[in-house]
Amino acid sequence: MSGTSIRFEPDDTFNAFLTVCKRPTHTGGKLAGVAVAVKDNISTRGIETTCASRILKGYVPPYDAHVVELLRKSGAAIAGKTNMDEFGMGTTTENSAFGPTLNPCDTGRVPGGSSGGSAAAIASGMVRMALGTDTGGSIRCPAAFCGITGLKPSYGRVSRYGLIAYANSLEQVGPMGKTVSDVSTLMQVIAGYDRHDSTSLNKPYTHTPRAEIKGMKIGIPQEYFGEGVDPKVAASVKAAIGRLEELGATTVPCSIPSMEYALAAYYVTCTCEASSNLARFDGVRYGPAADTKKPWHEAYQEVRRAGFGTEVRRRIMLGTFALSSGYYGKYYAKAQVARENVRKDFQRIFADVDVIAGPTMPTIAFRLCEKSDPLSMYLADILTVPANLAGIPAISVPCGKADGMPVGLQIMGRHFEDERVIDVAYAYEQAVI
Ligand code: GLN
Repeated sequence: MSGTSIRFEPDDTFNAFLTVCKRPTHTGGKLAGVAVAVKDNISTRGIETTCASRILKGYVPPYDAHVVELLRKSGAAIAGKTNMDEFGMGTTTENSAFGPTLNPCDTGRVPGGSSGGSAAAIASGMVRMALGTDTGGSIRCPAAFCGITGLKPSYGRVSRYGLIAYANSLEQVGPMGKTVSDVSTLMQVIAGYDRHDSTSLNKPYTHTPRAEIKGMKIGIPQEYFGEGVDPKVAASVKAAIGRLEELGATTVPCSIPSMEYALAAYYVTCTCEASSNLARFDGVRYGPAADTKKPWHEAYQEVRRAGFGTEVRRRIMLGTFALSSGYYGKYYAKAQVARENVRKDFQRIFADVDVIAGPTMPTIAFRLCEKSDPLSMYLADILTVPANLAGIPAISVPCGKADGMPVGLQIMGRHFEDERVIDVAYAYEQAVI
């Protein structure tokens, strides 16, 4: 890879980028000369970072997120900042204040979300790799919908310092790429301890993918092939699991009974955390300035009403309500019990199997504007949120098509066994290339 400066001028017909860095610079290193796109909720020194929200329009961070610092050190060129659902809240990238991203496989469809810009930038060939973030599926969903690969790392493996928080206890920054090798290489660069993130652990990732899965035991949860899962998507995923068996793995049926409450536990937890995290956007420090001559609460209201989109306002209100006096025990505390049950279910299953496999998403990419009510949108996250609730690693790797659109095979692993999910995805990818 050359050491000279490259000029990155993408033909962004998909609205994948919110900011394009005209003259990325780089020096030698693991990613020298590789253009890497960065989701717009990850702070980049000197480069506008908006979370696809009007409330952060014009905000230029004075510091780099830890992962961005590592990217720069590796010689990568920051290609630009990618479009997303506002603050990461959504499953389609339609909740961006700056217009939706289009799916490069079919521009009448959404790319998934919330890291839809990152996935579209890779799927269209504008970049080889990108950073996304995954709170409840935001790396894996767009990876599945656009036919690329994306890993949500184990919680604690990648620093969240400089990630503009949506729901701290659930989210991780993670690598996205065209191939499993690219995802693994990017993971080598971004994983590891960071003293600025109190949840970061000293678990560097130095792995090189191996296509060796002989003797591995794969759990197949019945809930991942149940109601709401498109039979054509299920068929593609079952065929992929069949390939893994041909490669020497054995499959074991299993069940995650707590899935009945997983989605509710996720949406209560993430809205509560969001209501607290987003309180800092008050028109004083960031974004459009509040009219300070007005009483503070009026100015605060005005700025937030104008600055936040509908979905973000809905979630702030839901979360504020769920945390309010008298309701905390009814909602938040119950959600934490359900969350613990999800964790325990995974623990029990992983006592017997090495990884768990199923579809990433219950359907193929939706048509633009197809999901108009929030609840049906939330339901699409049912297969991705369990991994976030439990903090375990999960990858989505392309596994064929349904109705002409890409389908994702999801592999989940034990906490800190990101290497193993990478290996299974790699074995599958190598077998079908
Ligand atoms: N769709 C989920 C949500 O809206 C997940 C988003 C994410 O992972 N950032 O919360």
